[in-house]
Amino acid sequence: MTDKTSIKEALVQYGISPSRPRLAILEYLRTHCTHPTADEIFHDLKEAVPTLSLTTVYNTLKLFAEKGLCLSLTINEKQVCYDGHTHPHGHLLCSRCGKVYDIERSEMPMEPSENYICGHRITEVHYYYKGICSKCLPDDMAS
Ligand SMILES: [Zn+2]
Ligand SMILES: [Zn+2]
Repeated sequence: MTDKTSIKEALVQYGISPSRPRLAILEYLRTHCTHPTADEIFHDLKEAVPTLSLTTVYNTLKLFAEKGLCLSLTINEKQVCYDGHTHPHGHLLCSRCGKVYDIERSEMPMEPSENYICGHRITEVHYYYKGICSKCLPDDMAS
């Protein structure tokens, strides 16, 4: 689905020069729906991209988030995580396993509203749900 050309085109389209680390990080984000942290991305990519440093990963993710190429999620106050899927959707943080799950708009109880609210222009909407995920729920009920 995500080939190298489309990754490169996406960077160019967002006005970002496509260096090797940037290509690798964007490809990682687009192919991992796990909402990874900068540390996780660095850990997984450092072998494939030997020139990569943790600082580069942080700076690249910051740049991507500013340009709208990825979302930075602060749902877990202990660590920021990143999402390559920028369409409006909500997130659930499981208090047991710490995983962040996508909640699609169609599954959310209310529809996100228009682009302007009380005269303020909305550029990002975050829906954060906290709870216990469906995988951890049976354990929870057993205890
Ligand atoms: Zn869980
Ligand atoms: Zn997501």
